[in-house]
Amino acid sequence: MRGSDLDVVVVGGGLAGLACAVHLQRNGLTVRLLEASDAVGGRVRTDAVDGFLLDRGFQVLLTAYPEAKRVLDYGSLDLRAFEPGARVRVDGAFHRVVDPWRRPGQLPATLAAPVGTLGDKLRMARLRHRLLRGASAGNRQGASTTLEALKGEGFTSSMIDRFFRPFFAGVFLENELATSSRFFEFVFRMFAVGDAALPARGMGAIAEQLAARLEPETVETQSAVARVEGGGVVTWTGRRVDARAVVVACDGAASATLLPRLEAPGARSVTCVYYAAEEPPFAEPVLILDGDRAGPVNNLCVPSQVAPGYAPPGAALVSASVIGLPPVGDPQLDVAVRAQLEGWFGSAVRRWQHLRTYRIAHALPVMSGRTNFRDPRVGRGIYVCGDHWEGPSLQSSLRSGRRAAEAVMEDLGAGGARGAAAMPRDRKDDLR
Ligand SMILES: Cc1cc2nc3c(=O)[nH]c(=O)nc-3n(C[C@H](O)[C@H](O)[C@H](O)COP(=O)(O)OP(=O)(O)OC[C@H]3O[C@@H](n4cnc5c(N)ncnc54)[C@H](O)[C@@H]3O)c2cc1C
Repeated sequence: MRGSDLDVVVVGGGLAGLACAVHLQRNGLTVRLLEASDAVGGRVRTDAVDGFLLDRGFQVLLTAYPEAKRVLDYGSLDLRAFEPGARVRVDGAFHRVVDPWRRPGQLPATLAAPVGTLGDKLRMARLRHRLLRGASAGNRQGASTTLEALKGEGFTSSMIDRFFRPFFAGVFLENELATSSRFFEFVFRMFAVGDAALPARGMGAIAEQLAARLEPETVETQSAVARVEGGGVVTWTGRRVDARAVVVACDGAASATLLPRLEAPGARSVTCVYYAAEEPPFAEPVLILDGDRAGPVNNLCVPSQVAPGYAPPGAALVSASVIGLPPVGDPQLDVAVRAQLEGWFGSAVRRWQHLRTYRIAHALPVMSGRTNFRDPRVGRGIYVCGDHWEGPSLQSSLRSGRRAAEAVMEDLGAGGARGAAAMPRDRKDDLR
């Protein structure tokens, strides 16, 4: 195909770029997707190491995400769910904090856990009820951060520090709970009505599923774009690719380099340390939180207890997440992590084999202000999508890719009735 025959060039093959390309192609447009790395997926990739599946940083798919439900085929991802709630490590013991609506049998254990007061558990029930009805958290006083919203709800510091802080630090990748309360409300609802799940073959299977829907030769890997110009892009090797529209689907920092009028967002970082164990340190497919806030590990799980394919037969995979980028090298971090986990699981931890440490500097964009419904049009024939544009989640990445595709189709007069029929209607409460 000659460059000028191309309708759209998509720059970046993370979930946003893949979702965008899938929508465009499904509606009859010709698309080329240029990805800088050696494979698509962006921040959602899985490495196979010695028979283990290592996601590049611990993350989960919340099955209630509206856009994920629309776009992904959950059946072929073979999703495996975590137990709802968490086990919280407090004062030398693990305690269950489980959503009693999902697991009524665990209500007594949850009520007895020394994680917040009885009043906090009632406040949690009230908050759940209100959020599922679409109301706001934080006594509707316009709380802007998650911490303000939780305080506005009247939660005690014990409940905030022992449960909300480690749980949502693992989601927001920051300890201060400074993330927007609206995003907190959305995520809370998603946890309440769906599962936190892993695909049987690793998180990277999500990106692979989308990529498999593209026509052959749509994707070019190891094709980093250096410049976006009117009517096309130029790669670092000096090749020009002309197209009627350009969609920049990179992470926030790379997008701001290509489109200098965009502001680069701040970044949340996380470090994920993987171990191979002979035996899983606990039997259930559950998330463990450090309610003592002793660190360095904030949250831990055994992915192979959730999805057995994460480890070879006879072994278990342990994933420990440290918020931020620790200022020590991998060997020292390994020592500190093991010291903490030996206190949790005993001397067996000494026999664990360190597999790999992932330090992800730009794991999530800092979400400042409102990002919903941002227009993807940023210049003549130039569009932007990605989590930095609409919100730090798989849901927002997928949705922003689709919304960029809709804008392109509208401007190019493409898609027609088929396109309109294929496009779902956005509901306001989906869009966080
Ligand atoms: C450790 C971790 C944990 C997370 N946990 C969760 C979670 O539990 N639940 C959840 O919903 N979300 C989670 N997220 C967030 C989620 O993964 C991201 O929001 C989402 O994957 C971002 O997708 P994207 O397409 O917007 O960006 P990216 O995935 O960053 O994709 C951008 C792509 O652009 C490419 N690119 C960059 N520059 C160029 C260039 N010049 N030319 C060509 N290509 C370029 C990059 O190589 C990359 O492939 C987590 C993220 C991380 C890292």
